Amino acid sequence: MRGREMATPITADALVAALKKEGAKVEEVRDWREHNRDHKGPWGPVHGVMIHHTATRGAKETVDLIYDGHADLPGPLSHGCITKDGTIHLVGNGRCNHAGLGDDDVLRAVVAEKRTPTPNQVNTDGNRHFYGFECENLGNGEDPWPAEQLEAIEKAAAALCRHHGWNEMSVIGHLQWTEQKSDPRGFTMDALRERIAARLK
Ligand SMILES: [Zn+2]
Repeated sequence: MRGREMATPITADALVAALKKEGAKVEEVRDWREHNRDHKGPWGPVHGVMIHHTATRGAKETVDLIYDGHADLPGPLSHGCITKDGTIHLVGNGRCNHAGLGDDDVLRAVVAEKRTPTPNQVNTDGNRHFYGFECENLGNGEDPWPAEQLEAIEKAAAALCRHHGWNEMSVIGHLQWTEQKSDPRGFTMDALRERIAARLK
């Protein structure tokens, strides 16, 4: 793919198909195809995928929280919620409340598919430009990341990279977007990107 297609957000049907093509286990949650924050701001052009941890425990509670959000931060809180059993629960289609503000130098590096600089500014709307995956984990550095879950994260990110013609450098952790965040904690983004690169070969 070239040019405009590389940055046009994927459709719901194409996302489901792309995830299944990677062999992912997919659950479509409630009205996810119409669930977004498009009334609050723009969605697209898209430039990358952002990985998060939820700081929660329990699959059902976690998926509900990411779908609904809370009083201070309405849902959807990402496009997909990846639970410990390796299921990708689709919860949002369009603009989602997951990235917040981050560093424009990081966005430029993601667009160029290069290693990102250490973030030191909060001047750019990330919800406009990134797909988000919230992954069930306490984020305390002790809660384990099961192999099934890491594989699902790899597949989710690779599915979008393959669709858009991006490489693994288009996948960042929330902590690479803003110095105010520490997620995901418990694996390195370098290790995840290596797996994505291998899968994309
Ligand atoms: Zn986050």
